[in-house]
Amino acid sequence: MRCLGFIEAFIITFLIFFLSPSFNGESMAQTDSTKKDSAVLPVIKPLINLYDTLNYYQTKYDTSWYSGALSYKKSDSLVSKEYCEIDILEIGKRDSCILVLGGIHGNELQGVDLVVSLVNYCKKLADTCFQYKLVIVPILNPDGIVHDTRTNANNIDINRNFPTKNFGEGKNKSKKAYNCGTEANSEIETQLVINLVNKYKPFMILTFHAPYACINYDGPALDRATKLSELTGLKLKKDIGYKISGSMGIYYGIERNIPVITMELSVMDSSQWNRNKAGLLDLLKIKVK
Ligand SMILES: [Zn+2]
Repeated sequence: MRCLGFIEAFIITFLIFFLSPSFNGESMAQTDSTKKDSAVLPVIKPLINLYDTLNYYQTKYDTSWYSGALSYKKSDSLVSKEYCEIDILEIGKRDSCILVLGGIHGNELQGVDLVVSLVNYCKKLADTCFQYKLVIVPILNPDGIVHDTRTNANNIDINRNFPTKNFGEGKNKSKKAYNCGTEANSEIETQLVINLVNKYKPFMILTFHAPYACINYDGPALDRATKLSELTGLKLKKDIGYKISGSMGIYYGIERNIPVITMELSVMDSSQWNRNKAGLLDLLKIKVK
């Protein structure tokens, strides 16, 4: 190996000096213990370059080829703990809005697959086909998908982290997968959902889980859930059978009276979109002439 040239040595010295904790205003007493961590700066990369599974989904709803009349844009996207982009898509120009959330649990890819199919279907339609604006997050928990876990990169179940009145109750500590965290709304993914609801004020939230093959709902959503159940063949189920806290359904459906509809999907196969298409188009009021 050759020796470092003067310029290379200068650059390295320059970087070490400016990235050191003391340069960032920390006391010398802290320097030794923090040196190792602060020497590594995070590199934010788009998710497409990082992970094969996510690459597949990212490519599937890539907007670059779309040139139709539909107003379709990637609005503010956010970066997860492990530096995956969490995309937010807006479809249509209507004021009244429905929020659609896929992939809240990383080991339930069925929902991501269905949401991506929905996005691809919508991309080919004109604005006039939409009665409502759709704000769609195809993959809310990309880190969970990367690790094939229900939880996010902090090992928190996002669907137990919402600041419900009963937050933390009924927590099954032996099951790490349902960990709500020590504080409500501590996770970037939970905060994202809350920010989106505050920003867009959706009159309904549609979310996806798996594999229990049923339609579940919270808040004033009985009629819509019944219709969705009839059209998809997924059994209507008011109660999932056990006490939970910190869920999106309780926070928005029960405590804020915003209908929250949960599609619990079953198997992910090539006919998943066809099985659920009529129900989704009816629920979201997408009308193809
Ligand atoms: Zn789930």
